Amino acid sequence: MLDFSALNLLPSIMEALHKKGYKTPTPIQAQAIPHLLEGRDLLGIAQTGTGKTAAFALPILNRLASNRIKAKPAMIRSLILTPTRELASQIEENITLYGKGLNLISTVIFGGVGARPQVMAMGRGVDILIATPGRLLDLMSDGHIQFEQLEVFVLDEADRMLDMGFIRDVKKIISKLPAKRQTLLFSATMPSDIAHLASTLLTGPVRVEVTPEATTVEKIEQSINLVDKINKPLLLRSILKNNSIKSALVFSRTKHGADRIVKYLEKESISSASIHGNKSQGARERALGDFKAKKIRVLVATDIAARGIDIPQVSHVINYNLPDDPKSYVHRIGRTARAGRDGIAISFCDETEVKLLKDIEKFINCKVRVDNTHPYVSSRK
Ligand code: AMP
Repeated sequence: MLDFSALNLLPSIMEALHKKGYKTPTPIQAQAIPHLLEGRDLLGIAQTGTGKTAAFALPILNRLASNRIKAKPAMIRSLILTPTRELASQIEENITLYGKGLNLISTVIFGGVGARPQVMAMGRGVDILIATPGRLLDLMSDGHIQFEQLEVFVLDEADRMLDMGFIRDVKKIISKLPAKRQTLLFSATMPSDIAHLASTLLTGPVRVEVTPEATTVEKIEQSINLVDKINKPLLLRSILKNNSIKSALVFSRTKHGADRIVKYLEKESISSASIHGNKSQGARERALGDFKAKKIRVLVATDIAARGIDIPQVSHVINYNLPDDPKSYVHRIGRTARAGRDGIAISFCDETEVKLLKDIEKFINCKVRVDNTHPYVSSRK
């Protein structure tokens, strides 16, 4: 396997990688970084968990630090557009770590918090801006962000932008970018709208595709627990009473459902918090921080909120509800086998979810083992 030293990155970036404990580049890093350092455009078909953040962040840092140009007030030298606040914060954290010692200015902007500090941060000019589309458009239309100095543009999680209804905003933003730039587009899947966008956005791109999904699924110990809907809370409690489960991510179909589960678990003295779109930014960050710091054992999330969150230490994923889209099943359980770890995924299936289970099994092309040993096995067949 290629070593990071073969990539010719600046010494201070190498040092940051060393400190982070990265030894070898992940496949997407090994395949993308050499081309990106040459200034090529990139179409990256990859999801979170593959190391894609460093795949784009390292070449950007390397480029901006190798050719120092002062960003003028309101100007940015690179833009990373990403769909959720959590992803934006995570990318910013990584960039700060990888770029330590380079003296580049990075900042993050997203909605749901006051705009003033973000406007202030833009006042001095920024090397790397990480943004979600809505707030970026707001600040652009007020003249707080301008693109004349833009060199690199990254569109992250393009398919998610589409799912979340952001694609028009994204196109509006793109229409304001200078034509001469390096462009990177990342997407886990390639629906036709995104393939079309990529063809208009990228010039002679390198295409890198990493597909961890099938291999990830194989490494995870999956089971189905048939249970009557009414018994789901009891089943969840009985599973979580096992103290060897140090950190579990529980998926709920709805935001209210997530809150109900947390309320129940708290009553049962099982420490937990929920993370979903109705929570304030502060509450989400607190929940995630407490979970990462192991102050709480259980994080209850909806699909959209969990998308892209990097939680390396999850040992168990529990699907309290089966997802409507079989792809979400793969995304969900993939959270328990990150960075080479194996994990356990337990899915509850009640009387209304049998069809969803069939769809999932068809999609992953295998039958999931039914666990009949739990105390709340449904009497149904
Ligand atoms: P990402 O797909 O960018 O969200 O990265 C997923 C996880 O992999 C993060 O926790 C990264 O810190 C970690 N990671 C990224 N690149 C490497 C690497 N080369 N070696 C080990 N871990 C890595």
